[in-house]
Amino acid sequence: MITVTKTFLPPQEEYQAILSRAWDAGWITNRGVLVKELEEKLKTYLGVPNIIATTNGTLPLQIAIKALGLTGEIITTPFSYVATTSSIVWENCKPVFVDIHPDYFTIDESLIEAAVTDRTTAILATHVFGNPCNVEAIEKIAVKHNLKVIYDGAHCFGVTYKGTSIFNFGDVSTCSFHATKLFHTGEGGAIFCGDANLSQKLYFHHNFGHDGPDKFKGIGINAKMSELQAALGLAVFVYINTLITGRKKVFQYYYERLVEEKNIRLLKIRPETELNYSYFPVIFENEEVCLKVKQRLEKLYIYPRRYFYPSLNLMDYAEGDSCLIAENYSTQILCLPMYHDLSAESQEFIILIIQQVLNE
Ligand SMILES: *Cc1c(COP(=O)(O)O)cnc(C)c1O
Repeated sequence: MITVTKTFLPPQEEYQAILSRAWDAGWITNRGVLVKELEEKLKTYLGVPNIIATTNGTLPLQIAIKALGLTGEIITTPFSYVATTSSIVWENCKPVFVDIHPDYFTIDESLIEAAVTDRTTAILATHVFGNPCNVEAIEKIAVKHNLKVIYDGAHCFGVTYKGTSIFNFGDVSTCSFHATKLFHTGEGGAIFCGDANLSQKLYFHHNFGHDGPDKFKGIGINAKMSELQAALGLAVFVYINTLITGRKKVFQYYYERLVEEKNIRLLKIRPETELNYSYFPVIFENEEVCLKVKQRLEKLYIYPRRYFYPSLNLMDYAEGDSCLIAENYSTQILCLPMYHDLSAESQEFIILIIQQVLNE
């Protein structure tokens, strides 16, 4: 069986050796030594000024919306995981959908201004599959219309743009450390914010507003990462470069074998980006071909995934305007199996099946 992704599990004894430090300390949550150590390691590795480790990658989005005091309308992308939209609605704001760029699959910056109204307070966009949004254009629009910018960087661990972490763009960026993501802590995530004051505020929000044991700074929620999660993260982190190098090889193999193929579309990577090679999306000519490829692969116990499906403007609680490209792509896309030690033989097998269907 080959699945779309395979969670990297470090040797169990290495996890246990780290975990035993939590046991020895008798301290398994509330920001113990392991969470702090993980934060320090990630800060250095990613090259970000501030980081807050969290229990998943969704609460950071909600906390960012809360901390920035957003109300009214938030301009967002329909082509992302459901958490991007649900966080907006959960925080009592209205998502206003802008279609995606056909090549980059990120929000189409040239359509954003037409969606701005006097109720718009922010842009929440996703660096889809780790491919950066046009952060410069979005920054310009945000400054012109006095909007905040949040980036859902769930896919972006280790991604750099113009030589710096993609998390260094926007007012707040988030990441997910879910088991299906490149770097993971089982469940987990992080908040990034270059502004030290705002980062403080985000920090208080993620821990009930606690400012020490008996003082509070405003309202908060519980989004803390536990020591158990941090221990897994520290054990996985040792292998991060192996994981990225392995995936790069797999990515390049798919790319070289599929780039000449007619009637499919591959993701165009934004110039000056160093990807983390988390996903390999393929857009087929239509839904019928897409589902045919999926079924054919599944018969052979190979499981690609329709990611992202459905287009988020179609969620019943979103009341979004139509976004034709995202709606079409969501029915035509498959993410091919992708993990660091996927063998070239398996890849070749997957590619042959795809070519078979395309040539029918
Ligand atoms: C995975 C993901 C999330 C949610 O992260 P969790 O850690 O599962 O809460 C948010 N946005 C995108 C784009 C994702 O892929």
